[in-house]
Amino acid sequence: MKNIGIYIHIPFCEKKCPYCDFYSRLGTDQLYDEYTDQMISRISTSPYAKEYIADTLYFGGGTPSLLGAERIGKIIEAVKRNFFLKVERAEITVEVNPSKNDFDFTMLKLTGVNRISFGLQSANDDELKMLGRLHNSTQASKCIVSAQKSGFNNISLDLMLAIPGQTKESLRKSVDFCVKHNAVHISAYILKIEPNTVFARQKKCLNLPDEDEAADYYEYLCELMRQNGYVHYEISNFCKEGYEGRHNLQYWHDEEYLGFGPSAHSFMEGKRFYTPRKLKSFYTCEKTDDGNGGDEAEYIMLALRLKEGIDFGMFRKRFGYPFPEKYLEQGRKLAGIGLVDLRSSGISLSEKGFLVSNTVIAKILEM
Ligand code: SF4
Repeated sequence: MKNIGIYIHIPFCEKKCPYCDFYSRLGTDQLYDEYTDQMISRISTSPYAKEYIADTLYFGGGTPSLLGAERIGKIIEAVKRNFFLKVERAEITVEVNPSKNDFDFTMLKLTGVNRISFGLQSANDDELKMLGRLHNSTQASKCIVSAQKSGFNNISLDLMLAIPGQTKESLRKSVDFCVKHNAVHISAYILKIEPNTVFARQKKCLNLPDEDEAADYYEYLCELMRQNGYVHYEISNFCKEGYEGRHNLQYWHDEEYLGFGPSAHSFMEGKRFYTPRKLKSFYTCEKTDDGNGGDEAEYIMLALRLKEGIDFGMFRKRFGYPFPEKYLEQGRKLAGIGLVDLRSSGISLSEKGFLVSNTVIAKILEM
């Protein structure tokens, strides 16, 4: 039986952040109960149930912690029953907003969850306010410490780069906060203005850093991460040795995963599909076909996001032929200007290449 990653989308938030494009809405206890029941039913009646082993389970959102530990525990039990999830071996992550200090982390630990991803974004209160977040840095600190006291040591913190008003000094303060709180994993994304968000409407008066300034923040962050002993294992992700996010590694390795919930995407048996962004679509098992997946271009595009890049032996094993010369030719040119590391065993982007990853990957694929 094959291993897969399972993603559970929890589409509820206490308040919509002005930059956010993820599918989420306000919820109530009644709605959380109804959604939990629907989720368990979808998991139990999935055509893939009893055919695959869930090696990782990821609760994303939205704000999964709003469901509370008990409902999360019920969903985990359903995954155990239907996808042979073994809590001792699996990575089970829950995203938590660090705004409340009364979350029952002890009970969450008992459900088998072993990794927490906090949506910190910044440790500067003026930046958090600007982002419309509900927490401040003191609340975030209390929340993280509370999780650690309950036995969670695999903690990931999200940071945001190029926030209006951010400075290198304030970014350093956010990184120091992560280090001080013993985060073993840090995800850092540049603020992107998505259409149909409040920020998209306010874009002109937001005073956003331009692309060059955003790139400066990224470079500075990479430097700070290096100084603090984090491995830059993916374009936007850093970790202490051995703490790579296993669930997301499956995406970058172009492996199979199954998503449950509105807006959740899946890649199973060579096909990509997703549930439309509506609760009703999820409740009525609607699926939208998103074409075939897993071809060589997709594999290359995803694998090059990783520091390890592409191993030629693995490529041959997956596709049954050697890494194509046409990509190698581009790789040699890019290696000549320091954007790519080309070895006899594989190819990857250099740290400099990470900075302009979209351009470099497109060049290799000649898209
Ligand atoms: S809490 Fe997260 S998912 Fe919810 S609106 Fe804010 S950024 Fe989006």
